[in-house]
Amino acid sequence: MKKIFIVLLSLIFIGASFTSVTSIEIKTSSIIGPRESPMPGDLKDGKLPEFPPFPQPAISSHHELYPLTKSDFVVTLIEQLDEELYLSYLEELVAFGPRYTYSKACTDAGNYIYNEFIEMGLETRKHEWNDEDPTVFNVEATLLGSNEESDEIYIICAHYDTVSESPGADDDGSGVAAVMAAAKLMSSYSTEHTVRFVTFSGEEQGLFGSRYYVEEVISKNIAGVLNVDMIGFAEDEEDASYVIVYRDTENPLEWMTEFTTNIAGEYQEYIELEVVPGGSSGGSDHWHFWQAGFSAIFYAEYNFNYNYHSPDDTIENMDIDYAVRNSRLILATLAELAIITELQAPIKPIILSGPAEGKSGKEYTYAASTTDPQGDQIYYLWDWGDDTDSGWIGPYISGVECEESKTWSNRGDYLIKVKAKDDEGHESEWSDPLSASMPKNKSYINRPILNFLQQHPNLFPILQQLLLKL
Ligand SMILES: [Zn+2]
Repeated sequence: MKKIFIVLLSLIFIGASFTSVTSIEIKTSSIIGPRESPMPGDLKDGKLPEFPPFPQPAISSHHELYPLTKSDFVVTLIEQLDEELYLSYLEELVAFGPRYTYSKACTDAGNYIYNEFIEMGLETRKHEWNDEDPTVFNVEATLLGSNEESDEIYIICAHYDTVSESPGADDDGSGVAAVMAAAKLMSSYSTEHTVRFVTFSGEEQGLFGSRYYVEEVISKNIAGVLNVDMIGFAEDEEDASYVIVYRDTENPLEWMTEFTTNIAGEYQEYIELEVVPGGSSGGSDHWHFWQAGFSAIFYAEYNFNYNYHSPDDTIENMDIDYAVRNSRLILATLAELAIITELQAPIKPIILSGPAEGKSGKEYTYAASTTDPQGDQIYYLWDWGDDTDSGWIGPYISGVECEESKTWSNRGDYLIKVKAKDDEGHESEWSDPLSASMPKNKSYINRPILNFLQQHPNLFPILQQLLLKL
């Protein structure tokens, strides 16, 4: 028995050492040169559909890029891109199920993205790319640049469709969640140059959505494109410390890889990633931008996800911390390219007063305040920590205190927080929370109940029993 055990153990050991040797070899080769990249999953005969060459060459240019120095705006921006925000979008997307282009789930997901962009206050439109079917569309949201002399447009994009069998958490829910989180956070700022947040459909059938999109924007100055497709899978810590950037190796204007590599270095403490330049790739939506002659890069996870295009491409099989750090890198790159200049939203509010302890059933008043950088009027939203909120209240003049009262009906500990928005809809961060403890509960016996009991004393024990159960 003991012998068998030892033999088994050594077999396992030999197996394990083989696996680790193999995986190290794969990693080394991918650092040195180009590696296999993802491909759309529903291609006819495994080939990208052929499109005619673009009728005119794209002409694009970008402003002079100065040596990078860390910007406080960018630090604040990327610090807000956390797992909670990222998952709030990813979970909604995956909940639609497989989002096969032309299916209802895909259209529903597109409508969801469209509505979210609208709520962020961004100029949003559906780009319908199949004349015969209006349910098939890309979604584009625009943050207009403040520099009226600039015609530069920077694009961050991902595809929201999937193959028919897969919930598409990593492919490409991971990219769409990055685009949506970027849109949400950047919509509170001004940028010098215009930014577009674009999500495509028709990718898995052969990059259709992006092809028709590029046809439409070919005469514009698309100065740089950040395509995000599958950034959320890592098997171990080493995988999770690299990201691959596929680039247009034939384009002499290829400058974006270097730029994003510098961003990873400058903001290393918030991103903790090393950029590994990949080779060329025809496997995602950057392809037609390249074909047209635009500058674009394609971000993808370092260790390719073997669950892709299968029912196992789930959130559970992802590394969300890794996806968030990749999203931060891409967001910081976008913010530095478009030159983020000014916070539009009110500053993060502070809770000024209100009890940290009390009794449930009793009313308490809390006060908060903040200012708006442009001096706009401010609305406040209180989250009472019991799944209720105050709704937006206001307007208040910038800097004036907002008071709001609250009665908790159950005893418990509650985390109160408040956020603000200006009259153009730019939302602030949530305040630091105030913890309120409502341990005691004497309020069930209020004045009208007491009066009632005095008239019906025989009901008192029954009511008491009931209250004890609450
Ligand atoms: Zn994909």
